[in-house]
Amino acid sequence: MANVKLTEVTRKFNNVTAIEDITFEVPDGEFWVLVGPSGCGKSTILRTIAGLESITSGGVYIGDDLVNHVPARQRDVAMVFQNYALYPHKTVAENLAFGLQMRKVEPRIIKERVEKVARSLDISHLLDRKPKQLSGGQQQRVALGRAIAREPKVFLLDEPLSNLDAQLRDDTRAELKQLHQRVGVTTIYVTHDQVEAMTLADKIIVLNRGKVQQIGEPQQIYAYP
Ligand code: ADP
Ligand code: ADP
Repeated sequence: MANVKLTEVTRKFNNVTAIEDITFEVPDGEFWVLVGPSGCGKSTILRTIAGLESITSGGVYIGDDLVNHVPARQRDVAMVFQNYALYPHKTVAENLAFGLQMRKVEPRIIKERVEKVARSLDISHLLDRKPKQLSGGQQQRVALGRAIAREPKVFLLDEPLSNLDAQLRDDTRAELKQLHQRVGVTTIYVTHDQVEAMTLADKIIVLNRGKVQQIGEPQQIYAYP
């Protein structure tokens, strides 16, 4: 596990400033949520932490390490996207195992981890199926499971529930919360959904036009006077 720190991070694309002077520190094991209007820089922040986007200036730290120049593969960060692309020709078990195989983890350990993650997300009965034989909610759980199975130090989630219908979204959100309480990996979670932010966050970062507007606990951010 590790804390995540950004110090005065700016990312420009030619004449567009995607994020500017972003500074915050997520303590080890906490669950922080990033909110703000479309285009305010939420995805860019996650991508800079994951190493999928270079930065124009500033510092990105994971644990004690400045990782600006560390490639994504070596950052020990797992990211789950909104459109959770699973490998269509692999079974659920093979999808869950993939990230571990890439890292040359021993087959016996891969098997144990896949089974453990499948139990925790209630997908053990689906291990032999292919993605197209699963519902949207089941696919999303497999995508989460694939990231969790790697046992990353940092977990980045970009609107992971937004493609689910209301009931599944509630169920999966509740499971995510329980999972975090059990495992406690440092997590940064992007959403447009106030209920998700309220129920999941230790702290919420409100972004506007690429800048941090406010950081606080859910009841401070969503206080109605
Ligand atoms: P969302 O609002 O769901 O976060 P966006 O439309 O902002 O999605 O971005 C989707 C993807 O397109 C991201 O990977 C982002 O980096 C990229 N992107 C967004 N705006 C531009 C742009 N002006 N030029 C090139 N790529 C862009
Ligand atoms: P959000 O996730 O909050 O919707 P993004 O981080 O995707 O916002 O984008 C922030 C801003 O940066 C937007 O104005 C977007 O158009 C711009 N942007 C993102 N990626 C690129 C890119 N690859 N090239 C040019 N502009 C980009």
